[in-house]
Amino acid sequence: MWCFPVPLIRCLRGRPTVKIVRWAAALPAALVALAVLQPVSHAESAKPPKKVTTVVSLTFDDGDVTHAATARMLEKRGMRGTFYVNTDTIGRDAKLTRRELAAIAKAGHEIGGHTLTHIRLTELTQGEQRAQICDDRRALVAWGYRPTTLAYPFGSVDADAKAVARRCGYDAARRVGGLKDWGCRGCQAGEDLRPRDRYEIRTPGSIRDDTLPRQMRQQVLNAEKSGGGLVPLVFHRVCDGCGLYSVSPKTLDEFLGWLATRKSRGTVVKTLHDAVGARYRPVPAE
Ligand SMILES: [Zn+2]
Repeated sequence: MWCFPVPLIRCLRGRPTVKIVRWAAALPAALVALAVLQPVSHAESAKPPKKVTTVVSLTFDDGDVTHAATARMLEKRGMRGTFYVNTDTIGRDAKLTRRELAAIAKAGHEIGGHTLTHIRLTELTQGEQRAQICDDRRALVAWGYRPTTLAYPFGSVDADAKAVARRCGYDAARRVGGLKDWGCRGCQAGEDLRPRDRYEIRTPGSIRDDTLPRQMRQQVLNAEKSGGGLVPLVFHRVCDGCGLYSVSPKTLDEFLGWLATRKSRGTVVKTLHDAVGARYRPVPAE
């Protein structure tokens, strides 16, 4: 049958193939429409979620034995923390065991480095710093972790320690202090969500047994009021009357309960790894 140049549709009218031809004719237009629509729907899905302005990181230093229960306390609130441990002292008196540490990690908390033996890095040569930071990280990797953030013991840091932290493969590191608290009223309230120095992330001063619950809340409120930011809180032991650098479980739990209510203000809890979007890099060869 010779249809062309008679319009194809008229020629094939009444035949089953007509519908196929009509669909085929409509197809390019449909594809064009899809192509036009595609960027719009993509743009819609890329809309940022409800604005989050303040990110609180709950960090616990020194691998203290009380941190096993602390991790579970956070989990009950749907929160995850960052636990900075010294690999040389894990398993010793009053410290977490390897098994307890593994349980903490398995529950979704971050395990970070804190040097081999908890030494003041600023008093060491670069070679000694490298051993303390790299060997500690190497041990964590050998235990099956992927540490991306470091906490300087005593918050003690200098340019050498920062350079070594970077060279050992850490993607970010936390000091102690530098943000607004009862000791520094003129300091910035929250660290920048993209810290200007990833190897010297600032915090309010350590939480101590004489830190009032009101002061803990104030550190978060200060950041909220000043437009948000990152507030890494530094805890050590979590027990009753167990030293200057401790907080009672009751005080911590009440604080966590209050913190959970701040979600409606756009305040969320993240590990330091998640808060700064840290990336894993292998430890360099010795
Ligand atoms: Zn420490």
